[in-house]
Order: sequence, then C-alpha cells, then structure tokens
Amino acid sequence: MNMDFKRKLTIPMETKRLYPMTPEMEATVERRRAELKRIFEGKSDRLVLIVGPCSADREDSVLDYVARLIPVQERVRDKLFLVPRVYTGKPRTTGEGYKGLIHQPDPHAGPDLYKGIIAMRELHMRVVKETGFACADEMLYPENHKYLDDLLAYTAVGARSVEDQQHRLTASGVETPVGMKNPTSGDLTVMMNSILAAQHAHDFIYRGWEAHSFGNPHAHAILRGYVNRQGVTHPNYHYEDLIYLSSLYERWELQNPGVIIDCNHANSGKNPFEQPRIVREVLASCRWSAEVKRLVKGFMVESYLEDGCQEVDGGCYGKSITDACLGWEKTERLIYELAELL
Ligand code: PEP
Ligand code: MN
Repeated sequence: MNMDFKRKLTIPMETKRLYPMTPEMEATVERRRAELKRIFEGKSDRLVLIVGPCSADREDSVLDYVARLIPVQERVRDKLFLVPRVYTGKPRTTGEGYKGLIHQPDPHAGPDLYKGIIAMRELHMRVVKETGFACADEMLYPENHKYLDDLLAYTAVGARSVEDQQHRLTASGVETPVGMKNPTSGDLTVMMNSILAAQHAHDFIYRGWEAHSFGNPHAHAILRGYVNRQGVTHPNYHYEDLIYLSSLYERWELQNPGVIIDCNHANSGKNPFEQPRIVREVLASCRWSAEVKRLVKGFMVESYLEDGCQEVDGGCYGKSITDACLGWEKTERLIYELAELL
C-alpha cells in the first residue's frame, strides 16, 4: 500500500481500561439513554434538543459550554431533554481542513491520532462525570465507535456517510438512538433505506471480528436540508416536507417513526441565526397537524459560547472553527422560548 503505518494505536478495550467509567458515570449514561429512548418510543412527549458546537475543538470551552446547560436543563426539564453535541470527528467534503479533536487534539498543531483518541474519550468522560449529561457524537468512522460506545446518549450518521454500508451495519449494533441524516443531495429514499438497514440485524466484519448486530429500533431520520444539482441550497423542514416524510414512514413500515430537525447546515443556508426561526416554524407545523407532532421528536442546534465562526487560528475562546454557531445568550433565549411554546 502507498502509505506509512506510523504506529499501532491503543485498541478500544485497552483505552477503556486506561480511562474507565465509574459506576456513577455508568448510571448517568444509562439513565440519560433510557429517557431518550422513551421519547423516541413516543412514551414521553418531551422534545429532544441536541445542542452544542459544530466541532468540540477544545476541552475547556466545551466543558464550560456544557456546564452552562445544567441549570437550563433543570428549568425546562418537563418540556425538553437536552443532549449536548460533543462532536469529536468532522467530515470534510474534500478531505481538507480541521478534522476534529480525534485528528488534532490541538487544533493549532499537526495531526496526532494517538493523543486524539485519548482526548476524545477524556472529553466525553469529563462531560458525563462533571455535568451529568451524556452526549451526542457523529459516528464518522464506524470502527472508532467502540472508543465511546459506553459514554454516548445519541449517535448521528452524517449526510456524507448515510449511504455507506459499514455505517448502516454498525448503526444496527449501536446501543443509543441513531439519527440518519438525509444525504447532501436530499434523496430521502437513501435516508429511509439507511434507517431500514439500521433497524435490522446483520452479520458483518467489525474490527476483525465476525459480528452479529441485533438491530436498532431507535434508528430515525434527521432532516438537514440539501443542495440540488445546480448547487443551490434548499431547506427540508417545512410542513410539506414533514408530511411527506410521515408518508414515507408509513410505506417503509419502520419502528418508532421519528425525525430530528437539524436547524443549521443546508436548512439554515449555514446562517446560524436562522435557527430560532426554524424551530418556531416547525413548532407551528406540529400545532397544525397531529401527524407532524407525532413525527417530530426534536431539534439539533449548532451553538457555542460565541456567535459565528472564525479561522482555526482565530484565537477567540468558545467560537466555532467549523460551521458558524448561535452564541450562548441567543441559545439560552431560544431554549426558554422553545419550552414556553410547548
Ligand atoms: C454536522 O452535524 O456538523 C455535520 C457535518 O452535518 P452533516 O453531516 O449534515 O453535513
Ligand atoms: Mn456543522
């Protein structure tokens, strides 16, 4: 092969032995997961809010951010279930650019995958231990899921990965609810097929094992908008989109029909300040139609301490170095307004 195998990395089992969960942390994750599953099963009518930065670029600012969610979660506990977005791997359309904490635990230095694996696990561990939340992360590299599988409450499969066999099969063996995003082209058949695959049992090769997955009944849709053949961005959170998705669910005969509306990305046209409006529009659709209300399980909002984004070397604490985010004050206001409207 035309590559240099630089060094052998620690395997998940070894990494977990070096960085173990405490029984308290295990109980936290178990509790958060169980509550989240109840929402996807329609047994609780609270809405899920997956909220946090596009990329978890620094341990200090991410922990600072998640700590601010604690009193907010307390105040809205009867209406909303918060899942901090702690995304440690970033998909890059051309492969260029910052690829997340797992690649660059120090965004200003070169790649260090060895330290990256540890930084990724440590960050998720500190969040669970210090804040009592369990987080969402994207399963960008299916074989890496086992480094975090005991820590997460929610897993997303990204728009660029949702058509990939290994992602689908691995999702069928993931313990948390898994959100399958619509692909960047917007073809909802791809997303539905992906949910179908994830909800069923499979036999496949995983990390050198002949593995059998049991199927994930909590696999569901995430609508994130799309880009058409002419390269023009289109949203897909409107009433008609939701009714159409509901009809697809009926045809596909899947368990626990549900959707999370990703309010940023192609839905906001990458303008993070549109996110509060999108939340309100979707809530209006839920009020108009019981069918839509049943389908919508919650929202994904890209949010950080500061509004907007900056270059990787920008140097502003708590400001995104990937997609532009809604800053903390606007986010807090959005969460309280959302809770008021429910
Ligand atoms: C993201 O959630 O930051 C992301 C990259 O999403 P998508 O896969 O929808 O582009
Ligand atoms: Mn993003």
